[in-house]
Amino acid sequence: MTARILIVEDEEPLTMLLRYNLEAEGYEVETAARGDEADTRLKESTPDLVVLDWMLPGLSGIELCRRLRARPETKTLPIIMLTARGEESEKVRGLATGADDYIVKPFSVPELLARVRALLRRSNPERVAAVLTIGDIALDREKKRVSRAARTIELGPTEYRLLEFLMERPGRVFSRQQLLDGVWGSEIYIDERTVDVHVGRLRKALNRGNANDPIRTVRGSGYAFDDRFGKSS
Ligand code: CA
Repeated sequence: MTARILIVEDEEPLTMLLRYNLEAEGYEVETAARGDEADTRLKESTPDLVVLDWMLPGLSGIELCRRLRARPETKTLPIIMLTARGEESEKVRGLATGADDYIVKPFSVPELLARVRALLRRSNPERVAAVLTIGDIALDREKKRVSRAARTIELGPTEYRLLEFLMERPGRVFSRQQLLDGVWGSEIYIDERTVDVHVGRLRKALNRGNANDPIRTVRGSGYAFDDRFGKSS
């Protein structure tokens, strides 16, 4: 699966340079030149990582970062902040606002690419693992098999992809539309209620007897794989 990166930057030459290099690395790249535009976009769909400039028209990078951290859907979204200022206090303020990393302009492109790679790996080691294991649930991507506490779980192809998608990003809340885009693909029109039907089937297959439900319904938002699943007893 390709990681999707949103660049929020108002200096067009820099945006173009970053887009070119990130696409060459195989990432899917989107761009926004204004903070408020990015804010609207991020309410509709969540990328895997955001490269966020500090000084932006419409809404500052700091304010946007603060808003993203306040919403459940983007609370853990990896963010790299770009800043033209080199003062230590400013950097600290950037991180305190919730950015995962920062890079001071002017920077070298290879350095930014290295930071992007490192952050994606750190925030999402599951993306590259052959077997995803959370609690007593294991999803084997090579064998396309799911088991819970050593019991094999029979899943249809859609339920399998849905579970894989959620397990890759535990704790992240996805709207029904985001799940349709990520699991079904955005090229076909499917009613959002279809998502509820498949989540229901997935739950039925996974949860037997008194087994804990790993899937969390977030009212008014959507669904998430519970990041506390398997951690408490
Ligand atoms: Ca700027």
